[in-house]
Amino acid sequence: MLVERKCSGCGVWISTDVCPKCGFDSNPKRVRVQKIRDVKTQKESAEPEKIDLVLKKWKNTKNPILKLTYWFGYSIWFVYFSILSFIAFLVAWLPG
Ligand SMILES: [Zn+2]
Repeated sequence: MLVERKCSGCGVWISTDVCPKCGFDSNPKRVRVQKIRDVKTQKESAEPEKIDLVLKKWKNTKNPILKLTYWFGYSIWFVYFSILSFIAFLVAWLPG
């Protein structure tokens, strides 16, 4: 037996997963998966952009002190990663 449910896309009562009127997929399982996927992609696309924007603003600032802190932080980050990769290199090459 088919269960009728309201289409989330156009509000028409349907007995199939995919609405014949608007093509909206009302399968609850697929809707849930789609929602999770939407949230995930939203997070992924929103966060790096924000950081990128802040970094860009910071880098192009007219304030010389802020500019200095940017390059200071950048060099610390650079040194930190050089040390990390150096340690990783040592661990990889040292015997035992
Ligand atoms: Zn519909």
